Amino acid sequence: MLKVMSIMAHQDDFEFNAGGLFAKLCKIHGDQVELKILTTTRGASGHHQMSLEETFRRREQEAKNSAAIIGAEYECLACLDGNHLPGQVFIDRNFLGGLWNAIRDFEPDYIFCPPIISNPLAGIHIDHYNTAWAVRMVAYQLTVPHAYPTMNGSPRMRTTYPVIINVDDTYACEQMYDFSVDISGVYGSKVKMALCHESQIFEWLPWNSGSETNITSEQFKDNFKKRHTLVNERYGNDNNSPREYFRLTSWGKITDKEKVLSELKYNA
Ligand SMILES: [Zn+2]
Repeated sequence: MLKVMSIMAHQDDFEFNAGGLFAKLCKIHGDQVELKILTTTRGASGHHQMSLEETFRRREQEAKNSAAIIGAEYECLACLDGNHLPGQVFIDRNFLGGLWNAIRDFEPDYIFCPPIISNPLAGIHIDHYNTAWAVRMVAYQLTVPHAYPTMNGSPRMRTTYPVIINVDDTYACEQMYDFSVDISGVYGSKVKMALCHESQIFEWLPWNSGSETNITSEQFKDNFKKRHTLVNERYGNDNNSPREYFRLTSWGKITDKEKVLSELKYNA
């Protein structure tokens, strides 16, 4: 059984940057893959009209609906004190310990998470940025049974040590990648998953950008397609098919592109 985990800050982050890859894994591996979508926050700040609690409840349901399309399980991270973060991720023992527990409980072979942005001219989103740092910080400690108090059961030796892979982040404006995945065959599923996040794509994101209001699902699909074209262009790829881009890290298990592609069983 292959176990693959997405660790991102908000409920809709995963669909944009790795939804196609996960849909592809579901298609290729069927019941031989277990997919988990973990968000490090409740995403509760992501709306201009609803209360924090209303936003979280709605976004949680949207994330579950999206995950169900590819047979994945959605979970919002519980910190060591048992609470979720509403948003605005700061790295402390409470947060790192919760993340350490969540990863050790699932025992993933692969983790997909945001990159650490090193370009001082690039903008950052505090939640994305600190989620990336947190994954990097706990990576070594995944092998240390007494690093943090365990929330479920007693400390145990590791049974897996994950390969950790960075997804694209539009803020980072990266142009280097280790492998990209043609997601044409599952693009319909990716769009369907993104469309589950109604509170974001039809309400919050247009309001927050100040550029568009009342967009239709057809307009969203057009924008989504353009987004893929722009990402392809940024990575110097003039191929028209939608792709997702990934970079291998040495934060966890060291591997190489060939091994990853062979284990995930797809062709780049
Ligand atoms: Zn986000």
